[in-house]
Amino acid sequence: MGLDINKIRQDFPILTKEIYKKPLVYLDNAATTQKPLCVIEKITEGYCNCNANIHRGVHFLSQMATEAHEAARENVRSFINAASAREVIFTRGTTEAINLVASSFGDSQCSEGDEIIISQMEHHSNIVPWQLLQSRKGTTLKVIPFDENGILKVEELEKMITPKTKLVSVTHASNTLATVNPIKEIIRIAHAHDVPVLVDGAQSIPHFSVDVQDLDVDFYVFSGHKVYGPTGIGVLYGKERWLDAIPPYQGGGEMIKKVTFEKTTFNELPFKFEAGTPDYIGSTALSAALDYVKGIGLENISKHEHELLEYARTRMAEIEGMRFIGNSPQRSGLVSFLVGDIHPYDMGSILDKLGIAVRTGHHCAEPVMQAFGIEGTVRASFAMYNTKEEIDTLVAGIERARKMFHH
Ligand code: PLP
Repeated sequence: MGLDINKIRQDFPILTKEIYKKPLVYLDNAATTQKPLCVIEKITEGYCNCNANIHRGVHFLSQMATEAHEAARENVRSFINAASAREVIFTRGTTEAINLVASSFGDSQCSEGDEIIISQMEHHSNIVPWQLLQSRKGTTLKVIPFDENGILKVEELEKMITPKTKLVSVTHASNTLATVNPIKEIIRIAHAHDVPVLVDGAQSIPHFSVDVQDLDVDFYVFSGHKVYGPTGIGVLYGKERWLDAIPPYQGGGEMIKKVTFEKTTFNELPFKFEAGTPDYIGSTALSAALDYVKGIGLENISKHEHELLEYARTRMAEIEGMRFIGNSPQRSGLVSFLVGDIHPYDMGSILDKLGIAVRTGHHCAEPVMQAFGIEGTVRASFAMYNTKEEIDTLVAGIERARKMFHH
């Protein structure tokens, strides 16, 4: 059964907004998704009914807030099928989660000359933390290349791994090329050499179901705001044995067992990695977002977004001068493109005046742009609430821009 998109759209208040007196066509979902009322209400409800600092309070409200936060952790656990809630660490988002691993794992497990392997299609947040590690520890960074279609050359990985390789850190789905990588295969290859794997799930968690145990992944990270949740909250999943083996990331309250001026002992998992007051309102709102996604069904979402994607690519291919950046057959719901020699910013600005929100530029993946010898792309990215009519509006907008620039 197809999704009732009109009904879904009613759950998202912002979608009725007009931009320059035109109905909003929001196609910037890879950057952040809009929020359903249940998430917005959860935030209000949290502050109205259930606000007290968690874990340390004996009073009623504190216990209520603590229970809500820990229930949210359990809900995340179940969403990604982690073996234990101890393996679910709340972070500010994907970026902080990767930085946590780069610091805690990197500093404790890597020495000079050790290698971290990433891919050529990584978001800057899965490049720069490893370069910072490089400047602290003298590690080296190796990069799995992709081909002209944006398909990762996974066969290269086997040759790249050496006894010095300490971690493979790759994205599940590219935020610029739409490529969905064969993560299970990558993990299998790395594990055959006893190398752990971190997977950046920022662009996969909103679109298809992820089972961390089935993947046998060592670290998996994602952001709440890309899966219909609030900003400022995200998740690091880590296998318990890894999280136990590596030191805390930040020091402060919550993460300690006992502090004296001579020595501090650390709290158990997951609190060891959650220094300071956690975003307990954010975690419960994220949990509401995951419930919302579960209610619609990830399979239904995935099917709908794929229909949109194929419809968009077919319609857009008819536009003169259309060039798609990224042509992997395994792709998620976004399309990166250029039209003739029209600069992405010009295209984006014209579309904006028509009420269409797309993203333009390098999408925090400059090495991808370098590989294609371009400055940037225009990116339209889809969510469960987008419609074919909106894609028609996009196509008409692109045509209009093309005519303005070429005639
Ligand atoms: N990784 C990928 C693949 C992304 O698309 C993004 C955001 O666009 C990030 C990481 C960073 O996410 P955040 O800014 O929420 O930390």
